[in-house]
Amino acid sequence: RLLSLFQFPFGRRLPCDIYWHGVSFHDNDIFSGQVNKFPGMTEMVRKITLSRAVRTMQDLFPLEYNFYPRSWILPEELPLFVAEVRMMKDSDPSWKPTFIVKPDGGCQGDGIYLIKDPSDIRLTGSIQSRPAVVQEYICKPLLVDKLKFDIRLYVLLKSLEPLEIYIAKDGLSRFCTEPYQEPTLKNLHQVFMHLTNYSLNIHSGNFIHSENVNTGSKRTFSSILCRLSSRGADVKKLWSDIISLVIKTIIALTPELKVYYQSDIPAGKPGPTCFQILGFDILLMKNLKPMLLEVNANPSMRIEHEQELSPGVFENVPSPVDEEVKVAVIRDTLRLVDPQKKKRKDIQQHSESCKNKVNVVHDYFMCYRCQTLERVSEANEELLDAGAAGRLESDAARSPEAALPSLCLKQVFPKYAKQFNYLRLVDRVAALFIRFLGVKGTTKLGPTGFRTFIRNCRLSNSNFSMAAVDILYIDITRRWNSMGIDHRESGMCLQAFVEAFFFLAQKKYKSLQLHEQVASLIDFCEYHLAALDEKRLVCGRG
Ligand code: ADP
Repeated sequence: RLLSLFQFPFGRRLPCDIYWHGVSFHDNDIFSGQVNKFPGMTEMVRKITLSRAVRTMQDLFPLEYNFYPRSWILPEELPLFVAEVRMMKDSDPSWKPTFIVKPDGGCQGDGIYLIKDPSDIRLTGSIQSRPAVVQEYICKPLLVDKLKFDIRLYVLLKSLEPLEIYIAKDGLSRFCTEPYQEPTLKNLHQVFMHLTNYSLNIHSGNFIHSENVNTGSKRTFSSILCRLSSRGADVKKLWSDIISLVIKTIIALTPELKVYYQSDIPAGKPGPTCFQILGFDILLMKNLKPMLLEVNANPSMRIEHEQELSPGVFENVPSPVDEEVKVAVIRDTLRLVDPQKKKRKDIQQHSESCKNKVNVVHDYFMCYRCQTLERVSEANEELLDAGAAGRLESDAARSPEAALPSLCLKQVFPKYAKQFNYLRLVDRVAALFIRFLGVKGTTKLGPTGFRTFIRNCRLSNSNFSMAAVDILYIDITRRWNSMGIDHRESGMCLQAFVEAFFFLAQKKYKSLQLHEQVASLIDFCEYHLAALDEKRLVCGRG
């Protein structure tokens, strides 16, 4: 419906309503419209960054964030990994864990291997120089037809501020091709038994291309839910656990995403808004608890697969399962971000808020803002051909949604915001961090910015001198920068600031739990900054 698609393989030449980038956000000269990628998302969902972001939340809310396997970052946390595993084994000799080592930034199972003991980590060869995450292996996954499988769910992050999240009602289930056995030294290397990646299992002689949505090596998630429901499983509870996992994961990602966002799209300057389709990979445990494996910033939207017709001869053939799930996700994303719909909504909202103040005649409002809206709308219609513009009017009149299937993307945030808002503490810490960044376009805080933060929030006193503040800044910043995360800029990154903030909170509010200490310090800082703003306003007026 009224969608003109243009491909710009050599760079863009026309301003667009929606920019559909192939890989990541980067394009410095977009000043309006919507881009289908958030700045920094690719970096944020790498295995190490995701693990760090989730760990910060696990420190604050250990019970709420127990859906992510215990993880250590290699090489820097190797000694910690060895020590913690030894301690846990000593306290429970019956514990016989397995671990999975996953190279950072890897995908499609690339470089992944299982180990039984920390000493089995391969410290020689090319893997050694690659940072990785080592994670507790989930030994008891739910099996269907004796096979391990994972779930790929599509999630639309429609907006970061305010936070808006949608989840697709259906997803994909990707199956292993060898019957599952709990890991033993003998079967650790059998990737077709332990790894559910489609890209690996497609090479197994046992791979079955699905003819329909509930058989074969790739099925719809709804077909699995039907099976579970017929076995008496509580699928409503399962869905609500999955929704909760998705919202909590995104809450863990938003603080850093906001830092990237303000750096690429500074507030107050013309720029686009962003949205993004994310692929969540989830494993169900035997007891139906969903566990997060990873988040994909660039999930494949292919709806065909390669089939070997005769040895060495391949052909692309349609994949009904992919088509069933993915077409709906793209269609509904476009419906939700439809710029015409947004304008209609803006006009409607404004007409409602104006009703008492002005006379509303059809869609024409006698006020400055609405005239502006009208002009924007007219400008956009010039991009459409005359016939299309005509159809738009008549479509709008009979509700353009009417002819389409119901939305497969369901809003979960802000719908369930009340249940989850208490978790958004690091978002508020990030807001403080961004306030003191000073120079637009940066993602790191300099020593002066940190000092100003301490001074404006009244955090320095006789027990905590400005000299101690400088030492804290240098210590934490140096450690984070030595981890080799991002050397493009010098200064304190958000995670380092969060660590300093937690330290200050623990120092100031001794006998509380960490999340209460942090919440109290945030309140304290926000109170002093609001008072300062008020004072500046009064002085300004004066
Ligand atoms: P990649 O990006 O390379 O696909 P993943 O983190 O998705 O890496 O891991 C690949 C596969 O390994 C997953 O699809 C899953 O089958 C299996 N896997 C990953 N982590 C775990 C884990 N902690 N426990 C059990 N299986 C896992």
